[in-house]
Amino acid sequence: MDEQQEREQRGLIIAAKAKLQKTDDGRWFVPSQSRRGGDHYYTVKPDPVKPFCSCPDFTARQRTCKHLYAVEIVIKREYTDDGETQTYTETVTVKKTYKQEWSAYNRAQVNEKDRFLSLLNELCKGIEEMPQTFGRPRLLLADMIFASTFKVYSTVSGRRFMSDLRDAQSKGFLMRTPHYTSIYRYLENPTLTPFLKQLIEISSLPLQAIESSFAVDSSGFSTCRFAQWVKAKYGDQKMMERHEWIKVHLMCGVKTNIVTSIEVTDSNVADCPQFEGLVKTTGRNFVMNEVSADKAYLSSDNMQVVADHHAMPYIAFKANSTTSKNHSAIWQRMFHFYSFNQQRFMECYHKRSNVETTFSMIKSKFGDRLRSKTRTAQINEALCKVLAHNLCCVIQSIYELGVEPTFWTEPETSN
Ligand SMILES: [Zn+2]
Repeated sequence: MDEQQEREQRGLIIAAKAKLQKTDDGRWFVPSQSRRGGDHYYTVKPDPVKPFCSCPDFTARQRTCKHLYAVEIVIKREYTDDGETQTYTETVTVKKTYKQEWSAYNRAQVNEKDRFLSLLNELCKGIEEMPQTFGRPRLLLADMIFASTFKVYSTVSGRRFMSDLRDAQSKGFLMRTPHYTSIYRYLENPTLTPFLKQLIEISSLPLQAIESSFAVDSSGFSTCRFAQWVKAKYGDQKMMERHEWIKVHLMCGVKTNIVTSIEVTDSNVADCPQFEGLVKTTGRNFVMNEVSADKAYLSSDNMQVVADHHAMPYIAFKANSTTSKNHSAIWQRMFHFYSFNQQRFMECYHKRSNVETTFSMIKSKFGDRLRSKTRTAQINEALCKVLAHNLCCVIQSIYELGVEPTFWTEPETSN
């Protein structure tokens, strides 16, 4: 666990144990953990654009501290359970449920690998094999996808992975045990790409009844070990231009972080036009109530596509955004909502931070670097990471929410 993840963990504990108080102007008071007995509070402003905490850690680093994490968690908990909840000032005393969640979390962790393999196997069973088009002996798409996704999930070196693969074959998950070097070759196969995208979609279906609020964002994955996305995006323009990235655009459910639709592009592709496809794909499988996104996605068309799905678009306006007769009806409606119900708007908009959490979950667990050398293989590798993430989310939901996953039974709503 790196230092930032430790802060997030401590934030979780504060959110569970401490009383956080909210003022009418959007500030929060979070009790100091170190000054025992006293009643010392830090002032926290969870402003998405300019977050603030008065603690020494934030003052020194200007990055999210445990108090900001704690406030974010409390906001998520209060406003994601029920979109209509209006109890802004309610304080939090959830020591008991926190303990239960913790043990469910532990059980999910302990059983994750076994569950992962059988769920991945279930998913791959549904793949329709193509007529033979490549090589002898014939390779099954299901085997290729199983092995590649398992490889990405395991994150161990090739040689150590061989024993994992033999293990998987002995359990009947693979027709034959491929050599680990062939897995890199599998990923170069463009046939895999649409199947991986489909499996990501299918793997989200067990959470249909749970997710109704969604968030959209993009993030880069490095194809070179020396480049970090955040550094390049905010600092070094040359790094961005050298095409060392591929960009993952995704939509996720804000409760479980499950990815419900995905697009992978070159890094120079703009975010805004990806929005529509992501919304439509998710809309095929989920009933959406809300979709949040940052100002990079701001456009009338994007608001409209959300409204077409009978959901509310919480897309951040820009500082110079206005409304006039030239704007579409949906723009005017949302701008008025934003202007006159700013607090409510921001509460819904705030759920957007969950999509950042989704990316950080994927990157911290499976790495933010892609090992593959060709563009096709890089895209497939990134898709494998997201598929592995989704299966972990489903496993978490089995233990925490009692979800019983079935992937390939047609939902009643579709045809
Ligand atoms: Zn702080």
